[in-house]
Amino acid sequence: MSQNSESFLSSVERTFDQAAELVGISPGLRHKIKVANSTYTVRFGVRLRDRLYTFTGYRSVHSEHMEPVKGGIRYSPYADQDEVEALAALMSYKCALVEAPFGGSKGALVIDPNEWEAFELERITRRFTQELSKRSLISQAQNVPAPDMGTGEREMAWMADEYKRLHPEDLNPWACVTGKPVNKGGIRGRVEATGRGVQYALRECFRHPKDIEVAGLSGSLDGKRVIVQGLGNVGYHAAKFLSEEDGSKIVAVLERDGAIVDYDGIDIEALHAHILEHGGVKGYANYQEDAKSCLELDCDILIPAAMEGVITPENAERIQARLIIEAANGPITFTADQILRDKGVVIIPDLYANAGGVTVSYFEWVKNIGHIRFGRLQRRQEERKTTMMVSAIEELVGKKFPEGLLEELVAGPTELDLVRSGLDDTMRQGYQVISEKWHSDDKIPDLRIAAMMISLERIVDSYVSLGI
Ligand code: NAD
Repeated sequence: MSQNSESFLSSVERTFDQAAELVGISPGLRHKIKVANSTYTVRFGVRLRDRLYTFTGYRSVHSEHMEPVKGGIRYSPYADQDEVEALAALMSYKCALVEAPFGGSKGALVIDPNEWEAFELERITRRFTQELSKRSLISQAQNVPAPDMGTGEREMAWMADEYKRLHPEDLNPWACVTGKPVNKGGIRGRVEATGRGVQYALRECFRHPKDIEVAGLSGSLDGKRVIVQGLGNVGYHAAKFLSEEDGSKIVAVLERDGAIVDYDGIDIEALHAHILEHGGVKGYANYQEDAKSCLELDCDILIPAAMEGVITPENAERIQARLIIEAANGPITFTADQILRDKGVVIIPDLYANAGGVTVSYFEWVKNIGHIRFGRLQRRQEERKTTMMVSAIEELVGKKFPEGLLEELVAGPTELDLVRSGLDDTMRQGYQVISEKWHSDDKIPDLRIAAMMISLERIVDSYVSLGI
């Protein structure tokens, strides 16, 4: 069960209702879009440690207005139907918002991955994949999972390999999941994509002075004090890029087993290495045990990047951050969201803020179907053309290009360059349309409702063109 009284699904649905009212969707279609199309629960047995263990898994399909449907699979002891349905719905809205041509889905396995050895997790994951495959809930054409909380490249590689074994005749087996290692059909830049997307989203927000003024902020990301909750895949990359590339100061990192607070700025690489070695933040300098109350510390930007339901009516009033970017899905409940908005806090909502993951997953899926690395055909051709142009300019002006600049100018784009460019473009455009919508009508209270309205308008269009 989600760990708070205001359920995750009800928060998503209340946001939906508010946006649907403003868009003016007819009651029948509104209901059709709002509810999950199907949620499959599976209980399967795996013989381990000399006994049979029964595991429960879910895969929810929210909307099939576009196929395949897309969404991560999380491994968490708290996963339940409410949670996967909320996450699947968010995936439909997220994909529509960033124009990734997918419907929404999400899955979960009720398990604490820390309790199992790698070889045991592999057997469990392969059994889960078999169950999903039986019902086309993993399939390059119908349903494409990805990593989420508690899963990563390793689990995706096991899933893809199992799917390939079950479907030897399939021409595109690697397209059945995204977030795979590069040597198993993955794409460069996927591991860090969600955190990188958070960075690009913040950069774009700071290019909109009117928006950050609402939060009482000004200037750039340089020197901004940032608190990050959860130094996992998303939180680690967001914190790393913001501190290393934008000059932001990470003043607190909140983890399961405590928090590190240092207003001189935390060395994210060193802390991350400590977590990998010791399994938590305990033992690192400036440690304190009570992580939850650290959400309320003074800062400019708060990045919840762990889990849902961490800012509730119980603590919302005490939050001091001026800008919150929801790197996690659903970290702020519906009621807490209203409290924060009344305090003038600007919230960059999950359905946009963490869409970097699905955006690069989309590129990976296209790569798998195309069977060719991005940039492979044109890279050297572009290098040759630019070299010729540079030589012509040098001859005309009688001067040489500076050495460092020349190399950067001439080098053709690698797959990573193209992925970053596509991600940056998606995050910039995404923010621009949401911000424009927010300011277009006084009835639209914030970025979250604006983002949801844009998603719903696109989904409605898609249904209408199907004659529904
Ligand atoms: P992860 O498992 O890699 O990391 C989660 C981190 O949060 C871990 O370090 C964990 O120890 C920490 N954590 C867990 N409970 C905590 C608590 N109560 N307080 C503080 N820290 C806690 O997961 P992730 O992939 O980084 O996902 C995090 C969030 O981002 C989830 O909400 C997920 O749905 C969302 N998300 C992930 C992706 C992706 O590409 N991985 C994409 C979009 C959204």
